[in-house]
Amino acid sequence: MAENQTAGGFEPFGQMLCVYGLQLRRDQTHTLQVNVGLLCNQTCRHCHLNAGPARFENMGVDTLDEVVAYAQRSRFETIDITGGAPELNPHIIRIVEMLAAAAPRLMFRTNLSALNDGKRGDLMELLKKLRAVIIASFPALNVSQTDSQRGDGMFRIGIDELRKLNALGYGHSGSGLELNLVSNPTGAFLPPSQAQTEKRFRRVLSDKYGIVFNSLFNFANVPLGRFRRWLVQSGNFQQYIQKLASSFNPCALTGVMCRTLVSVSWDGYLFDCDFNLAAALPMGRRKVHVSEMPGPPEEGSPIAFADHCYTCTAGSGFT
Ligand code: SF4
Repeated sequence: MAENQTAGGFEPFGQMLCVYGLQLRRDQTHTLQVNVGLLCNQTCRHCHLNAGPARFENMGVDTLDEVVAYAQRSRFETIDITGGAPELNPHIIRIVEMLAAAAPRLMFRTNLSALNDGKRGDLMELLKKLRAVIIASFPALNVSQTDSQRGDGMFRIGIDELRKLNALGYGHSGSGLELNLVSNPTGAFLPPSQAQTEKRFRRVLSDKYGIVFNSLFNFANVPLGRFRRWLVQSGNFQQYIQKLASSFNPCALTGVMCRTLVSVSWDGYLFDCDFNLAAALPMGRRKVHVSEMPGPPEEGSPIAFADHCYTCTAGSGFT
């Protein structure tokens, strides 16, 4: 084992940055990601947050007011709503309305099934009215792969919801209603090229199901939360993190999302990204509540990192 390698057989992320003479520091922060809670209707194997039906952490209205005030004084370009399944927060309509008024661009992340539970007509109409960008998790084109990762029937429910979004106008070029998909591997391996995956999804979804979308992002799974537990239980953890570390691409560091995004948890604390939120690693390693923060994190301020950051710097990166 090389002197600076861990017992896991890979160099710690901080050590790797030193080897390349790199630092992880902020550029101008233009996006506020708001994690409105950990409650979810699914228990996906790859979830880095360990979200699920037994989680009851949800952003309440007092924290929402503090987040909105922070967004207003920070003048972010984009607000990105995520969870859990954000649809299940009891205040979701109010959350969407208030956050939409606080920035020019709103993004809404969905696992599709929570939007397709028969109770979200008002929310879908509101997202359309606000021209919110919808980011939908749709991991694979294969029914059994998707269902094994996300639960029985989830592939069909996802297809059904994508059709409903298309019927509302989402995903059609020129409609101004952007629908982007996120796919991810269903096991302990790295994703194939994003361009090729997007092409394949576009062809299959259109030919087989008549579905259109704008763009696809192909993300590696982050070894935290439920995915980490699955990696350990299946004996894949060591090999997976070694694979991420050995695929380290120093050029990918320029595009990592933590340079331009700050994430706020359901209870109002700030993190450099949603993965650090999952790892309980606060922004710049200092616990700061949104109500105490005067504005966006300053350019040049340090970003907290750990070995899960290898997920963002493997291959062509994860932005
Ligand atoms: S895990 Fe978060 S902090 Fe680490 S490189 Fe990725 S975005 Fe940045």
